[in-house]
Amino acid sequence: MAGTRKPTGYKKLEDFNMISASENGWRLKASCNKKEVDTSWFFSPHKSLEARKALSICHSCPVKSDCLYNAIMYQYHGIWGGFTQEARNKIITLYLGNNLTNFTLESAKRIYDEVDSTGIKVSISINSSRKKQ
Ligand code: SF4
Repeated sequence: MAGTRKPTGYKKLEDFNMISASENGWRLKASCNKKEVDTSWFFSPHKSLEARKALSICHSCPVKSDCLYNAIMYQYHGIWGGFTQEARNKIITLYLGNNLTNFTLESAKRIYDEVDSTGIKVSISINSSRKKQ
């Protein structure tokens, strides 16, 4: 549950604890913040049934962009924002060039159009047309 799930992989736990309620408000709307969701699914082995259940919950989550943004910025462990940690690492390397300096919530939103569920870049054209603007 994003509401109660503490990101175990936070770079610095004190950073997480410093986040204000307003910045963290998206967590209250999280699809995984429901009684019937078992949070262990989000930390299950890659490709297991439980991991697939977690990814499916993320898929229709209304706050997945906020979740992905935070998971990338603060290096959460487990499934967040609809991506496994392995997929997020690929995104950071292949899509963001290991540079989070200009990474924003808007960038996180674009990732869903440009990267597949395994973290591989699938749309060159979107990026190319953006460069021309
Ligand atoms: S995207 Fe997934 S992990 Fe993130 S808040 Fe939504 S359901 Fe939870």
